[in-house]
Amino acid sequence: MTKPITGAVTEMMETMERVGTMNAVVKTLTACLQCGTCSASCVSKSSFNLRKIVMDFVLDGKDFDSSIWDCTTCFACQTRCPREIPLTDVIVDSRRKLVESGRTPPEVRDIFISIQKFRNPFGVPSQERKSWLRKLKVEKGIPDISDGVEYFWFIGCFNSVDPRSRMVVEKVADIFNEIGINYGISESEGCCGNDVYAMGEEGLFELLKEENTKFLRENGIRKIITTSPHCYNAFKNYYSSLQVYTPVDIVHSAILDEELKFKYDVTYSVTYHDPCFLGRYNGVYEKPREVLKAIYNIEIIEMQRTRENSFCCGGGSGNFMRTGSKPNVQRAKEAIRTSAEILAVSCPLCMNMLNDGVKSLNSEMKVMDVMELIHKAVFGEK
Ligand code: SF4
Ligand code: SF4
Repeated sequence: MTKPITGAVTEMMETMERVGTMNAVVKTLTACLQCGTCSASCVSKSSFNLRKIVMDFVLDGKDFDSSIWDCTTCFACQTRCPREIPLTDVIVDSRRKLVESGRTPPEVRDIFISIQKFRNPFGVPSQERKSWLRKLKVEKGIPDISDGVEYFWFIGCFNSVDPRSRMVVEKVADIFNEIGINYGISESEGCCGNDVYAMGEEGLFELLKEENTKFLRENGIRKIITTSPHCYNAFKNYYSSLQVYTPVDIVHSAILDEELKFKYDVTYSVTYHDPCFLGRYNGVYEKPREVLKAIYNIEIIEMQRTRENSFCCGGGSGNFMRTGSKPNVQRAKEAIRTSAEILAVSCPLCMNMLNDGVKSLNSEMKVMDVMELIHKAVFGEK
């Protein structure tokens, strides 16, 4: 039998009093209709049921449990909730409380320790990153920030240590050199802190932010180019007084200003995967598509779920290093269904997660960064 609504509300109020948490989070979550849109949209739905978690939290005063570490903070639930409940924010906030009270799962704690020690989640010593930078195969070299530059190119930890993503960095450098922008990198680049923030380690995030802010101020940097959408989101939304660009922004302007010419045909059919931290977080949907469309002979075939409905690769919030659900395989299937030859990405995590997804399905589909396709159009097959 359906409970009279007044009874349900009274019960809810009593529950909230009992739990003693008549705080903003509970007030927000009581607007929940229990419609299940969030759970249906969730990339981690095989490990947790968000609609039920919200109900348990509000009605039974249960704490969010450790399954919330499987959330990739993809923002899909928050974008689609008809009551505009800030679900992703609530999850991040709950993680903060778990971290504060020492209830961090060991594999998450290991990521924090690596970042504390080495400023990257993989535990790669800074010396190794520096020696890779010196060996980059970039014809005209990469300038250093100390030369006094307009743009600081923040390569990002994933791009600096992952072999596949390092190949993208070389292509991006060639393109920047061809355009002739005044940019530089730093061998002592640290971690932007985006995923540390999402994983709830507020103290470590503040430390990284302080370090980066000091570094940027000392070098007089106001403009920053980020290879990873995760770094883009951090510098744009969590830091102040910075103009933040993606490599695609630089290319887009250069095409409009006729500073970059596409000289070669690239005869591919391509489907583009929107990364969460460019798309849903920052509304960047059209520029990567416009740049791809500017390449001769590229045909774009859209997947069924695109733009704000894009389905996360599963790598966000440290999940690329954890063994959880495998949404990358599901997303790879969606890409393969388009029959496109290339799955274009603009995030190093998506590159890796979707590459694994495509491989596990024994598909011929190739995963490439948008900048690699641009490189082909500018330099040919070199
Ligand atoms: S989408 Fe929003 S209203 Fe619907 S169940 Fe989830 S939190 Fe509640
Ligand atoms: S942010 Fe994404 S992964 Fe996290 S609960 Fe929402 S839909 Fe699921």
